[in-house]
Amino acid sequence: MIERGKITRQVTRCTNCQLCHHQPRDAKPVPATFPKSPIFAVVGEAPGPDESLKGRPFIGASGKLLRALMSDVGISPRDDVAWINTVSCFPNKDGQIRSPSDVETLACRTNLLDQLAAAEVGYVLLVGAKALHAWRSDLLLKDTHGQIGIWLEAWVVMPITHPAASFRKPSFKAEIRRDLKRWTDIAYGGDDPLLYLDDGCVKCGVSGGEALHRDRDGLGWCNKHWEKSKHAWEKERQKWGRRLVEPLTMEF
Ligand code: SF4
Repeated sequence: MIERGKITRQVTRCTNCQLCHHQPRDAKPVPATFPKSPIFAVVGEAPGPDESLKGRPFIGASGKLLRALMSDVGISPRDDVAWINTVSCFPNKDGQIRSPSDVETLACRTNLLDQLAAAEVGYVLLVGAKALHAWRSDLLLKDTHGQIGIWLEAWVVMPITHPAASFRKPSFKAEIRRDLKRWTDIAYGGDDPLLYLDDGCVKCGVSGGEALHRDRDGLGWCNKHWEKSKHAWEKERQKWGRRLVEPLTMEF
């Protein structure tokens, strides 16, 4: 078991990428926060200006909205959730927020996986595209939000749209609330989570029935997209330097 204090120190002292040298004045790395016994972890993209000044994750406008939507569906953001970021330092250009690069995401991967292990949870909510891509960079959020998958044979995951998207397009708020409601059924319901695996193709939604291929991450593929996806999977494996996915059919 990874001790939480140790991983917090690891993150706050980390110099694995250039981001720590390009922080605005008074900004600091933002390690995960853990309640005593979380039900699940949230993985977000990266701290913003508010988070990096206070050293706490998910306290900016998006984090506040996500916490409010969680409370709406019966989740306690304070007691049930370990809050973690894909990248722990504020990615910025001259102090303005930007998305973390692939190099920065890869550099912070050990911190991410160590913090997930320290949370000691079986369920992980992936918030936004960067978090989805920490699991599977060959997938799009529009195809996968609200779907269940398996990460490294360790965690049941569900991607959801980043709450910041609803500031531009308010209809995303209802979609996120719907996905969170489904998440509570899965993470709190006590059923076998594999019962919730989608029976359509993750790319086109076509129901494959008997012909559906199921990959090791629990995702379904129709014949056409199964053939196309094999190369993307190989690239994924090389990118992360460890086995994430394999083109085989596994019995779930
Ligand atoms: Fe280390 Fe992550 Fe900060 Fe880069 S972003 S310096 S890897 S904590």
